Amino acid sequence: MSDVKEILKNNNFEFKKHLGQNFLTDTNLLKAIVADAGITKEDEVLEIGPGAGTLTCQLAKVAAKVVCYEIDQKLAPILEEQLSEFNNVEVIYKDILKEDDASIAKHFNGSFKVVANLPYYITTPIIFKFLEGEYDLKSLTIMVQKEVAERLVAKESTKDYGTITVSANIKADTKITRIVGRQMFNPQPNVDSAIINLTINNAKFEVKNQKVLASLIKSAFAMRRKTLYNNLKAVFNLNQDIIKQIMVTCKLNENIRGEALDLGQFVTLSNELAKYTN
Ligand code: SAM
Repeated sequence: MSDVKEILKNNNFEFKKHLGQNFLTDTNLLKAIVADAGITKEDEVLEIGPGAGTLTCQLAKVAAKVVCYEIDQKLAPILEEQLSEFNNVEVIYKDILKEDDASIAKHFNGSFKVVANLPYYITTPIIFKFLEGEYDLKSLTIMVQKEVAERLVAKESTKDYGTITVSANIKADTKITRIVGRQMFNPQPNVDSAIINLTINNAKFEVKNQKVLASLIKSAFAMRRKTLYNNLKAVFNLNQDIIKQIMVTCKLNENIRGEALDLGQFVTLSNELAKYTN
């Protein structure tokens, strides 16, 4: 790997703010991200947004294979130069959000891990795409804004606890592995960041109907000041008495707010609602 700043300069590369281009160059930090993701020589890795390929190089040294999606074609000559010594890296110049699940999965022999210093403007859609998609995904280890990381690990009845907390933690074990100061990026963003690891854990809960669960989570946080009962009435096309009965069955007080439910209560309630929903 050559000096990345030099390569960017030689190629007259201009950072595009709207694509979330804040690059990392610190080798210790890059190695730490690879370690946080638990990458071994058996792992196949999907990297979203390789940028100038600094994280890609560290991944390629350890993993069996690295497949990257990069939206910015202007990075092609830079990535070619940076990654020339590796024969286990493939770069696809496409918008990852526009790629369907099967097209992504076909690059891998089986399960894979996502590792990325994410462009922050697509953090939430990326998390939902990979948690809800048809993939054999082992984990996501991603650099996100610190506030987003805090929301991902929040506890019930706190202001950070919301749709993304519940959706992510029902499917995965979540852990902030490190806080990363804004000075580590080039150019420097206005916020600090954190690396979060989401390890898929399908044994955590048995969800009968994912669509009902998704509607329930959305409705529970739709109007945080309203009671869960009122939010359920507004979203589910069910008779009021049935909703009351479901809440009694789930041992939920009629005045409880959605944000007070823990993960198990969300799953129990969604499985009960699923019995009444087509
Ligand atoms: N991995 C590099 C690093 O750590 O230095 C670059 C990370 S930078 C925060 C995000 C990268 O994602 C940029 O290279 C940007 O062009 C790319 N990107 C932005 N939107 C994308 C999208 N929708 N699909 C694929 N790549 C995208």
